[in-house]
Amino acid sequence: MSLSAEHAATLSPESLVVAAGRPPRARDEPVNPPLVLSSTYFGTGPLGDGDRGYGRYSNPTWDPFEEALGQLEGADLPGLLYASGLAAVSSALSLVPANGVLVMPSHSYAGSVTMASEMAAKGFLELRTVDIADTNAVLAAIAPAGGRAASMLWLESPTNPMLGIADMRALADAAHEAGAIVVTDNTFSTPLVQQPLSLGSDVVLHSVTKYLSGHSDVVLGALVTSDADLRAALLHHRTIHGGIAGPFEAWLALRGLRTLALRIERSQASAQTLAERLSGHPRVAGIRFPGLAPDPGHERAKAQMKGFGSVLCIEVAPVDGGTGRLSGAEAADRLVRALHLWLPATSLGGVESLIERRRRHAAEPDSVPENLVRLSVGIENVEDLWSDLKQALDTLDG
Ligand SMILES: *Cc1c(COP(=O)(O)O)cnc(C)c1O
Repeated sequence: MSLSAEHAATLSPESLVVAAGRPPRARDEPVNPPLVLSSTYFGTGPLGDGDRGYGRYSNPTWDPFEEALGQLEGADLPGLLYASGLAAVSSALSLVPANGVLVMPSHSYAGSVTMASEMAAKGFLELRTVDIADTNAVLAAIAPAGGRAASMLWLESPTNPMLGIADMRALADAAHEAGAIVVTDNTFSTPLVQQPLSLGSDVVLHSVTKYLSGHSDVVLGALVTSDADLRAALLHHRTIHGGIAGPFEAWLALRGLRTLALRIERSQASAQTLAERLSGHPRVAGIRFPGLAPDPGHERAKAQMKGFGSVLCIEVAPVDGGTGRLSGAEAADRLVRALHLWLPATSLGGVESLIERRRRHAAEPDSVPENLVRLSVGIENVEDLWSDLKQALDTLDG
């Protein structure tokens, strides 16, 4: 690749997303890495064994994205791409030894909690779920007096969808003292907003499906670490379990990454504006967004993030009067149906603004309110986003 690690370390993230992962600067080389569609590589027999071997071991189209993501997270090593965020979760959880203790936020991504719960049900590990914003509760779960200490601490901050904020540095230090590995799902923040390795985490996880790709057109995951032994174990797991990325998805992800800084800048600013306006609206009974000063995670987020992300949640007030009665959940469903610009769909982190009532998913825990609506703010004009929300909220007026 043409960008040396030394030069990369001097660049700001806004430049790195554009400059990282380019082919060598040689005459007639393309400025973008090519898409390589091949399941095997020359290199056996008279040619001697090559380094790539077979398409499940490596693909040249993965390399530029893996290198760019490693540099963005401030890691000493390239990242590892996976078929999906959950394939990356599976690989990360393989680092828990047999019968080891896993401490995980109760409001982690639902798929991560489901996977860990199923492993626990089979007796592969012991799962302790905690409110990750409650530092004392997490410390007690990591190293309980007289009990077994954790082998892995899973962090997600902000959590999905409750947007709780963990004290990442304090929790990572306590986990290390107890001998645990710390894995942080950094999907909601991206390395431009939060760098878990610099806050003590050992492994960073991404659903690349979300902000990193940014266009809601691929499903991919990634892990990043500076620890060579951990990376080797993860690479081995990826190769043997086969959760590898398709080359075209990898190519699209790098293309999406080029505009990450601009997209984050716009969507974070719009999320802040929308959160401020929504918090004063009579049809909004509650709001969760760490960028608002009264939010319980505000001070912590300010200390460890660069901005507050662009996902926010509102609780829609029940309606009583005029056109009739609606529970909060019914009012939330009506709000979502009344929108024209916002897309009623799950997922987040794309250029398009998405909205959904989370409890429509059976896997969402009861602790998420029925009337909670998650908004992923995209890059559209903020006034257009606001007027669409406002007209939809106004349809709820009884
Ligand atoms: C979407 C998501 C995942 C899972 O990623 P997939 O790419 O859908 O497999 C994991 N963690 C978080 C925080 C997510 O938002």
